[in-house]
Amino acid sequence: MVYNPLSFLFALDETVFFSNPLLLPSSTPGRGTTMNSTVLPPSTYWGQYHDTTKFNPQLSVAERLWVAWYAWMQNDVLATGIMSFVIHEVFYFGRSLPWIFIDSLGLFKRYKIQSGKVPSLREQWDCAKFVLLSHFTVELPQIWLFHPMAQYFGLSTSIPFPSPWTMAYQIALFFVMEDTWHYFCHRAMHWGPLYKSIHKIHHQYSAPFGLAAEYASPIEVMILGFGTVSSPILWCALTGNLHILTMYIWIVLRLFQAIDAHSGYEFPYSLHHFLPFWAGADHHDLHHEKFIGNYASSFRWWDYLLDTEYTPDALKRRRERKVTAKTQ
Ligand SMILES: [Zn+2]
Ligand SMILES: [Zn+2]
Repeated sequence: MVYNPLSFLFALDETVFFSNPLLLPSSTPGRGTTMNSTVLPPSTYWGQYHDTTKFNPQLSVAERLWVAWYAWMQNDVLATGIMSFVIHEVFYFGRSLPWIFIDSLGLFKRYKIQSGKVPSLREQWDCAKFVLLSHFTVELPQIWLFHPMAQYFGLSTSIPFPSPWTMAYQIALFFVMEDTWHYFCHRAMHWGPLYKSIHKIHHQYSAPFGLAAEYASPIEVMILGFGTVSSPILWCALTGNLHILTMYIWIVLRLFQAIDAHSGYEFPYSLHHFLPFWAGADHHDLHHEKFIGNYASSFRWWDYLLDTEYTPDALKRRRERKVTAKTQ
């Protein structure tokens, strides 16, 4: 039989199979296969990629890379687990690197929110070690459950990938869902006993920096991480329409949001100047400095609606309300 790289990919859509005879299982007679010949699966990833391209020229480069990965691994749980862990590490530390350089080289000093509190390299290294330890001991074991969970809730890993529009509206929704979960859990963690036993670790840095985004107790990582993972899972359970790639892009964007919110820098071109409801570093830095208010992650609306905003404007509004109440 001819080896077809796609034969290992689980849950491949029927529509994909029937759109191109070459994608049909290689055991199907007369479907682009040469009977009675044997070609062994390539032993390298790039050999697999080459074969995927040969059999399925209509796929995009990203789709070929994806298919070749699952076909080469021949173990979906391992393939998803390794991909998830590597994506997390690469994007977490990759996104933190520019902030480490900015702090170490003293760049953009005039945009530093708490200008007198620039973290030393030693502090950042200690923080990185703590975060790495947490990734390997707390998150890595859980990541192996990701593929079975994704399969159980019906997340798609097949090709073709969803359209950019589908990914965009779903990710926007996940931001809103996660922000709500984060607001209430984070606010609860500022209640005395929970603060002392769980959340205090995250507040070790009163002037945060990018790497400190995931500097937290394992319990906090699990509670807040639940919002990030369960928002797309809930959406998929309700609609049956979610691709695992959308979930990866969502997690990467959420990592960027968390790292940037902890960066300690506020620029004239920061996103919240264009999207006034976006939280950003300006919002979360004050939370670390004052230990009160600004509990949400991505947006400002929950803090505004429930009067927990801690910004100069919000403080002014509160003062004015008190004065009005006294004079009535
Ligand atoms: Zn807090
Ligand atoms: Zn924080």
